[in-house]
Amino acid sequence: MLSADEITAFRQLLQQQLAETCAAVQSADTGTVMLDQTSVGRLSRMDAMQQQQAMTKGLKERTQRNQRRLQAALDRIQAGTFGLCCRCGELMTRERLSADPASPFCTGCQNEIEEEK
Ligand SMILES: [Zn+2]
Repeated sequence: MLSADEITAFRQLLQQQLAETCAAVQSADTGTVMLDQTSVGRLSRMDAMQQQQAMTKGLKERTQRNQRRLQAALDRIQAGTFGLCCRCGELMTRERLSADPASPFCTGCQNEIEEEK
């Protein structure tokens, strides 16, 4: 099982990621999505603006999905089921949780789900 300290650390991490995600959604709403700084120099301003408009929609959808994922993980902490795979109920490895604390499935289930697609 995960210790209370570990759960607390994961909760802080998730809350921080959620706050960042909220900020990203807000900036997408106002149309001030950050452009990839490394590519801006090579693009003309017009290209950059067109690219930004196309990106905004996709980015917003992705961040909202991520937001729901983070919130669900926080809910699992609240419910005392954090770290358990939502599919098979097994405790996930610390390595997996550290890499992605919002991950709802263990590695085995994740692979099976991706194969089913
Ligand atoms: Zn599983």
